[in-house]
Amino acid sequence: MKKKVFIKTFGCQMNEYDSNRIYDSIKNIGFNKTDNPINADCYILNTCHIRDKAKEKVYHEIGRVKKLFRNKKKPITVIAGCVAQAENQEMLKREPYIDIVVGPQSYHKINDLLKNHTFSKKNEETEFDSVSKFNFFDKIKNTNSKVSAYLTIQEGCDKFCHFCVVPYTRGPEYSRPFDQIIYEAEKIVKNGAKEIILLGQNVNAYSHIKNKKEYRISNIINKLNQFTELERIRYTTSHPKDMTDDLIECYSTSKKLMPFVHLPIQSGSDKMLSLMNRKHKVEDYLKVYKKLIKINPEIKFSSDFIIGYPGETEIEFQETLNLLKEIKFINSFSFIFSPRPGTKAANLETIDENITKERLKIIQEKLFNNQKELNKSMENKIIEVLVENNIESQKRLFGRNKFLTSVIFEGNKSHIGNLANVRIYKSNQNTLFGKLEKNMKAA
Ligand code: SF4
Repeated sequence: MKKKVFIKTFGCQMNEYDSNRIYDSIKNIGFNKTDNPINADCYILNTCHIRDKAKEKVYHEIGRVKKLFRNKKKPITVIAGCVAQAENQEMLKREPYIDIVVGPQSYHKINDLLKNHTFSKKNEETEFDSVSKFNFFDKIKNTNSKVSAYLTIQEGCDKFCHFCVVPYTRGPEYSRPFDQIIYEAEKIVKNGAKEIILLGQNVNAYSHIKNKKEYRISNIINKLNQFTELERIRYTTSHPKDMTDDLIECYSTSKKLMPFVHLPIQSGSDKMLSLMNRKHKVEDYLKVYKKLIKINPEIKFSSDFIIGYPGETEIEFQETLNLLKEIKFINSFSFIFSPRPGTKAANLETIDENITKERLKIIQEKLFNNQKELNKSMENKIIEVLVENNIESQKRLFGRNKFLTSVIFEGNKSHIGNLANVRIYKSNQNTLFGKLEKNMKAA
């Protein structure tokens, strides 16, 4: 009888992509996916280290698994992802319920780890070996059949922002071979994908050299643009320093590249950017912004902001607010700084919590207002939506517009996977609500 595997995924899109590839991989050694954790013979936690108190949350999660299986056969318990990478052997010592610890660059070993598993022997694999990982996955069919599919093209980071754990958990920057990416993209599109979201911790730092020619993310976008069945291309997450002219140019040459740029800046103050070791100034960011707007005035921008990073005074906070006057960011993320163990900023003196909370409130109000305003401006207009799935309980469809905003509207399942024209009649901060329009062209 086939064994069952359940994967609980935390964190970013890259973990989601990895979890799907783990499913694809271990299917070949007799594990079938289950959506019900209680049926699992193998329980995998694909963890995220970006979250506050990430390590402790994983141990709490294990506590829940133990409880769930109290009167059942213990599943093979695997910790994958960035917490596994950061904590490695420590996890096996601290929590005997864990059987296997496997870091994100060692997933090519997961089949062997599971095949050779015995409950009497613990195993840990946390080497940085991206080449072997992607060569291994390259031989395994990608079965993702989602309308909007992730495709990892790059992993790791060499930039070492002082607040960030990624360089320690995902290792140095690695770019997959161009041909390997295009081959996988073809398979995903054959499975039904109409949108591909290219992923990487520094996705626009993508650089692969073959026969003395350098392939950049712009080459991938231009190639995907030729796929007739594909409607949309996106990428995330990018760094301002790597927004090169060839990539900016894609916003005029590739009709399928969506006019929505998620470009983290973290602060509108040069002093803070320097303290964070961001390797760019506000002026560099604005230059990129202006070039993009010039090439395609329709583009909307989204960003990440860290509020209350050690050293931030009212002056620097005000500079961030000033930046918000220049760029009307939508769909953005803002967080109060919280130290991550192992990073340079881990031991810096933090700012009074009441002050940071107040600053966060101010900035979020501005960011949310931008979003509300934009959504409101779409009411009574017809917009183009890529229909991703149906909401069974509401008998309605779910999709996204070109700026990645959620759209909910009435319609039947036959529209899934198509671009639909939807007339918006209502909006709130996060969602547009509409009705399917027939025979009309979207704005
Ligand atoms: S560039 Fe991004 S991934 Fe790299 S260290 Fe900075 S925040 Fe982390």
